Amino acid sequence: MKIFVVNAGSSSLKYQLIDMENETVLAKGLCERIGVSGSITHKAADGREYNAETAMPTHSEAFETVVYAMTKSDAKVIDSFDEISAIGHRVVQGGSIFKESCIITDDVLEKIDELGALAPLHNPAHVLAIRACIKTFGSDIPQVAVFDTSFHQTMPAKAYMFPLPYEYYEKYGVRKYGAHGTSHRFVGNRLIELVNKPEKELKVITCHLGNGCSITANINGACVDTSMGFTPLDGFMMGTRTGTLDPSALTFIAEKENLTPAQINDICNKKSGMLGVSGVSNDNRDILAAANSGNERAYLALRMQRYQIIKFIGSYVAAMNGVDAIAFTGGIGENDAGLREEICANLTYLGLEIDPELNAQRGKEIKISTPKSAVDVYVVPTNEELAIARDTLALIS
Ligand code: AMP
Repeated sequence: MKIFVVNAGSSSLKYQLIDMENETVLAKGLCERIGVSGSITHKAADGREYNAETAMPTHSEAFETVVYAMTKSDAKVIDSFDEISAIGHRVVQGGSIFKESCIITDDVLEKIDELGALAPLHNPAHVLAIRACIKTFGSDIPQVAVFDTSFHQTMPAKAYMFPLPYEYYEKYGVRKYGAHGTSHRFVGNRLIELVNKPEKELKVITCHLGNGCSITANINGACVDTSMGFTPLDGFMMGTRTGTLDPSALTFIAEKENLTPAQINDICNKKSGMLGVSGVSNDNRDILAAANSGNERAYLALRMQRYQIIKFIGSYVAAMNGVDAIAFTGGIGENDAGLREEICANLTYLGLEIDPELNAQRGKEIKISTPKSAVDVYVVPTNEELAIARDTLALIS
């Protein structure tokens, strides 16, 4: 059985075709500059590629190009889309409505659209893409929505409410929703499997550290708290995002520089974080290289981010009154051994100890804590596309 996984933005469309018999990727690709010009980069699992510049005024033409790449190009992997059993879509914001993944109906699509107020950059684009997908593939093929926020819906009110006047929650739904939920669920479930203590209440912390970063506290597979908030800006310092800071710093800057809320939002989301402090890049590898060659601001950015991660982990240990296992994932979490070492060196108060040789291994699932460590520490590569495909399969079965 083959599942087509779609992650659509307003001008891009990432996709994977996954064979669920053995959970392998048959092909993956990316359409870019939708609405502007249009291009596709498509790769089959055996290395064949199809790359083209072709007009994509809307997502419909992008999907048609994907169909060509998959079924007719030199990198084709199937004869027809009839071979595909269902399509799974990543959706950024499910609000308080979508506590689980679901089959897309007209009503579901309408609700995803309404939730655009909470995710203006994402949900409207998902709706456009889903409609284009239905137009291209017909309404007989089931389509499933998998929400980034669903996994965090088990948080108690004490964790998700903001200490603002209650009316803003009632009127506009202003509260913590979290993000990266599909990754935290995938990694958390895998971590619980790896730790394998079914008789015990398991308290785990999953650290998704990539260009966007978040940390989740999880008891027995359910989220109890997470670092991202009303939007993915909250939490701790990321590639270009601030994470949590004193809001009066922002009102002060807005007044001094005569900035609108939209400009402040732009600064906090796109110009801050590792990029803002280092002045070098938002990319961790560039910042590591700059710090190694003596750039003090790059060095400071690394120290700040790691310090904040250490504090978040500590706060979740406190929130859960303990922790049994911690997982690192995402581009940084999976690959940056120095970051894991620095963080774990500040968690020895938990009786946590890692093996430097195991920690030095990169990009694969591995236990990096020593046998005597009181907390198991793992690197667990995330796979959001596979999580979406699994949910899609489960819903159509
Ligand atoms: P993601 O958003 O999960 O794709 O992660 C992207 C981030 O991972 C970027 O900041 C990269 O610099 C970082 N990254 C990827 N590979 C490495 C590596 N080998 N060492 C350090 N950071 C890495």
